[in-house]
Amino acid sequence: VGKAYMFMIRLKLPGGKLTADQYLAIDDLAARYGNGTLRLTTRQSIQLHGVLKVDLKATIAGINEALLSTLGGCGDVNRNVVCCPAPTGDPVRTQMQALADAVAAHLAPHAGRQAYHELWLNGEKVPDPVAVPVEEAEPVYGAVYLPRKFKTAFALPEDNCTDLLAHCLGFQAVVEGGQPVGYNLFAGGGQGQTNSKPDTYPLLAQPICRVDPDEVVAAAEAVVRLFRDHGNRADRKRARLKYVLHDWGVERFRQVFARDYWKRPLRPPVERPITGADLHHGWHRQRDGKWFLGLSVENGRVKDEGAVRLRSGLRAIVSRVRCTVRLSAQQDALLGDIAAGDRPVVDALLSEYGVPRPETLPMVRKWSMACPAIPTCGLALTESERALPGVVTQLEAALARLGLAGEPISVRMTGCPNGCARPFQSEVGLVGRGGTKYTLYVGGDVFGRRLNFELEDSVPIERIVPKLAALFAAFKGERSPGETFGNYCARTDVERLRQLAAGAGG
Ligand code: SF4
Repeated sequence: VGKAYMFMIRLKLPGGKLTADQYLAIDDLAARYGNGTLRLTTRQSIQLHGVLKVDLKATIAGINEALLSTLGGCGDVNRNVVCCPAPTGDPVRTQMQALADAVAAHLAPHAGRQAYHELWLNGEKVPDPVAVPVEEAEPVYGAVYLPRKFKTAFALPEDNCTDLLAHCLGFQAVVEGGQPVGYNLFAGGGQGQTNSKPDTYPLLAQPICRVDPDEVVAAAEAVVRLFRDHGNRADRKRARLKYVLHDWGVERFRQVFARDYWKRPLRPPVERPITGADLHHGWHRQRDGKWFLGLSVENGRVKDEGAVRLRSGLRAIVSRVRCTVRLSAQQDALLGDIAAGDRPVVDALLSEYGVPRPETLPMVRKWSMACPAIPTCGLALTESERALPGVVTQLEAALARLGLAGEPISVRMTGCPNGCARPFQSEVGLVGRGGTKYTLYVGGDVFGRRLNFELEDSVPIERIVPKLAALFAAFKGERSPGETFGNYCARTDVERLRQLAAGAGG
């Protein structure tokens, strides 16, 4: 009998979309083969944790039977394409969501699909959710795939819920008269860095050019080809597109892109400042007269715990009203296509299962995110998902004492500097250093427009909230009208912030 090795399985779920049947099938698999929870990720996907090696094949086969897949959810290819998931039915989101699907299908790996089927599905032909031919040729990635992973996002200027600037490739909708008329193409964003390698760092994506809607797929392929050819294959820690752009500079990147890959003159991007990010919580009317409900899922963990039976509650709602499920890049769940007459049913089920309505939750909890880290991620240096709720509880109390409970302060924690929960863009970033210590970052932006900066390294977890509370007090006394905590930290002298933090018990 072999060892009972345990695995994490991640779905490839472009735009985070699931039908009712698909959601229920994955929920079944989590119960039968996983640890009885679903983990919604920061990239609109689902991870199943605790799957034993002996159950891998049955689990992956079950995922494919639900017309979903895991192929391309990992590896040196284009990963899950993220896109605003709100099922509003407005022309902009409708087009963006279709283009996100098209980019995901176009950049799905071809070679290996036969092997995937043979390995996990007994060679059976099943309907392929990503409609590309099964063949050994790899038209975009070539013989050696990409130097490393590649991440793509779609967003609107007024709703940057996918953190466009954290991505290798971003398409920002250009809207005129309520219609999507094009996309600003951004390139070269990314979060991860490596301790002890000072030439690695998070970077924000830069605007490169404008493309028409019918050019988006070709433009995505062109950027991927550039990365394939020019990404660093000698040093895996610097093998991301962001370093190509950073090392070359934007102008050289534009020149090489236009000359060798896009093969036509670039049109300049259209000025569209990012002005917001929407969690899509609460009830919203869709254009077709139906409704969707956005629910806050703390750190994306769908579980039953104590009086809050979120997993059972979601299962009951989806079974009863047959709603669609869309996952957000903020680790939340949107239940869509709900008839007006079913809204009371959904509300009653939320109460029955103890699922809190977003409007009753403290702001800082709704805007917090954590990666899984220990015990599921082999790269973790510290706790994250299991540690952040306690920190947030203390933050809630500190903010309430100062009368700042209504501030939407984004707090993100990760168990290592890979940065899976995008902690280098939030107003407060907590990045695992080792043991129970974290590097504390402040000064980012709740809408994802700016990187934060290091306030202090190796802060013991019990010192995090006292240090932040000292900054909150100064923020309260010195803020301009309407100023956010992140903006206040960004404009305040960093040495002063450090003194305030050090004065709070050092
Ligand atoms: Fe694992 Fe690090 Fe990613 Fe967290 S940030 S999930 S610890 S790799």
